[in-house]
Amino acid sequence: MYKDRIEKILENVEKPVRYLGNEWNSVHKDLDKIEVRFVFAFPDVYEIGMSHLGIKILYHLLNEKDDIFAERVFAPWVDMERELRESGIPLFSLETREPLKNFDFIGFTLQYELSYTNVLNMLDLAQIPLLSAERDENHPFIIGGGPCAFNPEPLADFFDFFVIGEGEEVILEILDLYKTWKKGKGDRRQFLRQAAGIRGIYVPHLYEVLYNEDGTVRQVKPVSSDIPWKIEKRIIEDLDKVYYPKKLIVPFMNIIHDRAMLEIFRGCTRGCRFCQAGMIYRPVRERSVEVLKRLGNELVDNTGYEEVSLASLSTSDYPYLEELTQALLDDFRKRGVSLSLPSLRIDSFSLKLAQQVQEVRKSGLTFAPEAGTQRLRDVINKGVTERDLLESAADAFKLGWHNIKLYFMIGLPTETYDDLDGIIEIAFKLIDLYKDISRADRRKLRLTVSVSSFVPKPFTPFQWEPQFTIDELKKRQEYLKKGLKHRAVSFSWHESELSFLEAVFARGDRRLSKVVYKAWLKGCKFDSWSEHFKFFHWMEAFKDCGIRPEFYAYRIRGYDEVFPWDHIYPGISKEFLIREHKKALKGNLTPDCRIGHCTGCGVNKLQGGKYCAD
Ligand code: SF4
Repeated sequence: MYKDRIEKILENVEKPVRYLGNEWNSVHKDLDKIEVRFVFAFPDVYEIGMSHLGIKILYHLLNEKDDIFAERVFAPWVDMERELRESGIPLFSLETREPLKNFDFIGFTLQYELSYTNVLNMLDLAQIPLLSAERDENHPFIIGGGPCAFNPEPLADFFDFFVIGEGEEVILEILDLYKTWKKGKGDRRQFLRQAAGIRGIYVPHLYEVLYNEDGTVRQVKPVSSDIPWKIEKRIIEDLDKVYYPKKLIVPFMNIIHDRAMLEIFRGCTRGCRFCQAGMIYRPVRERSVEVLKRLGNELVDNTGYEEVSLASLSTSDYPYLEELTQALLDDFRKRGVSLSLPSLRIDSFSLKLAQQVQEVRKSGLTFAPEAGTQRLRDVINKGVTERDLLESAADAFKLGWHNIKLYFMIGLPTETYDDLDGIIEIAFKLIDLYKDISRADRRKLRLTVSVSSFVPKPFTPFQWEPQFTIDELKKRQEYLKKGLKHRAVSFSWHESELSFLEAVFARGDRRLSKVVYKAWLKGCKFDSWSEHFKFFHWMEAFKDCGIRPEFYAYRIRGYDEVFPWDHIYPGISKEFLIREHKKALKGNLTPDCRIGHCTGCGVNKLQGGKYCAD
């Protein structure tokens, strides 16, 4: 009856396929044999959530276990939300169409700060109390993971616990603990206390936050002596030995990344000083060519995908990339399967590879100099020179590429208008270069210059830096827009109000939970979608809560300030980050430790010091 009603409302929504489930390789199980029911929740629409590799890995990992059933749910789009609310049908999972409130766990992936109101909206649609303190033994445990869990404080009131780091091992430990707890019929708080004893698990209500009179954090301390002071992130030791799915769900609709993803390595040691992923996902761990070749072929066998993409933070840094590409191309060519290499650092070696994998199709190339002058590129430790860029672009034009994207960040620490002029100059140098090289080529150059605004993130050397004001960022965007006027150039930028909110929540504390709640009450959701973003409501929410967002986004922090995330330990030491920050202000570079010496980031001490040969 209830499921018939779901069928009915699906007739009224724009893309019912988002809510159908039953895709190829989705998992279905006999519920009588299931002890733990888990649902992975992604706080954005299906097309975005289904492009996320982490969910795919964990979904299949849990479903390998006979007594666990993992399902999926994504944020319902506004038309579906309206149908759910009007019909009184609670938010349900894709696989069994079971209300989320009947599950044991709901695991949210937290990829970006602007998804926080969607988390609340999904819990509300699921008819689950939003506040952790208001849930009891009849409710599922609400878990958060992903990069935003490294500063989970703005969500502290809503989540029962967070997983810090890589989930593959820790998730099974949690579920084992849960099975024992469930048999003993213990109370919810007891389970959470026990969970807090697992390395990598952070239970916010077991920590008290004390504040100074100026509003900064004085101390974050556990409420009792059995709770750890620091929550150390979990990492997988050996990627060759850890589980990787042999099959992936193949959606019925187009999604953002509709291809088989093969993760070649984790971590990055290039040390770009604005990049949180480069810090929190250290150390670097690689899969071997042999394992990747096997996995790549299995994925093609089991999905029918005609494209396999190599996934990592920086594909060019995989030391056996040429060997791997050759091996996969040899296999894939016979099967009509193509290979894509995203996140390539563009140099002549990579261009050769890119040309090999795109023999016929010349899709666009992306260069990411990030800043317009050498001075600023040194500040951010982006080891790329203008000469590198122009030489690579010249090679690309000679090889027939005519669709180039340049990616920059504005508002970086110490940035001046000279650095913006540098962006404009680079664009025009590329236009001139194309004219010189491609005289006989009648195709026009298409140059996209894309700028985002710098957002200071926790656990980076720039975590002490203020963000530029919204007005100043807008002025700089206007300046670039004028300077880049040319028929070959299309200029795109990120709305500075969005970047401002990201900056507030990225470095926020738990007092911001009430702002998220207020904003959601005022109708904020899908904040990263410009057509839904309601900045005015957000500013009202801050005002109603008596909180100044500028305190979080614009304030210069001192090295002695206690941060709301200081009790989370990703392995990178604060001393290292301070050293890097000081070097940044002097424009000094730090070489990649994979090429040179260990630069002492501290991650080699994680889990008993098993990492990094140095
Ligand atoms: S500990 Fe040293 S070698 Fe290991 S990632 Fe950090 S800087 Fe690099």
